[in-house]
Amino acid sequence: MAARTDTFDLAPLHLRAGEGRRMELEVPMAPLQLGGDRYDVTPARVPVVLDVSRMTGGGWSLRLRFHADVHGPCMRCLADASPGWDVDAREIEQAGGGPELDSPYVLGEVVDVAAWARDALALAMPQQVLCTPDCAGLCPECGERLDDLPPDHAHERAPDPRWSVLNELKFD
Ligand SMILES: [Zn+2]
Ligand SMILES: [Zn+2]
Repeated sequence: MAARTDTFDLAPLHLRAGEGRRMELEVPMAPLQLGGDRYDVTPARVPVVLDVSRMTGGGWSLRLRFHADVHGPCMRCLADASPGWDVDAREIEQAGGGPELDSPYVLGEVVDVAAWARDALALAMPQQVLCTPDCAGLCPECGERLDDLPPDHAHERAPDPRWSVLNELKFD
């Protein structure tokens, strides 16, 4: 069974330089707020694979992989959408190695797996959450989902008021 965890302590692994370990964890993921809407992440506890290697000099090389779905309204047509993404993220942590080698998700020897997974998922997601990649959105006239309507869906144009003026002219 994978352990349920928000954070993961590297110290008890007792890894020496060049050694690595693969951990399978279940990480609870908070909902994401996008464009004023709430998107729940499913499953509630996302199974993740965390690869840990101890580098020479005492640093850590970390890789986090998982698949997660988000569930919420399609940003074009408001129908239920639950697209999913594969996430593959890496971090390097080397104490005293400068900002490039200072992972925001590693404090001492504790990895904030939940915060890392959430940020990595947000980065992997496109700008728009859609029910289908080519969702046609809503008809601007009647507000129905265009994907639910026949392809020739159209509305009678209201007659241009300028024509009625012409109709009142009398041509003798
Ligand atoms: Zn849609
Ligand atoms: Zn319409």
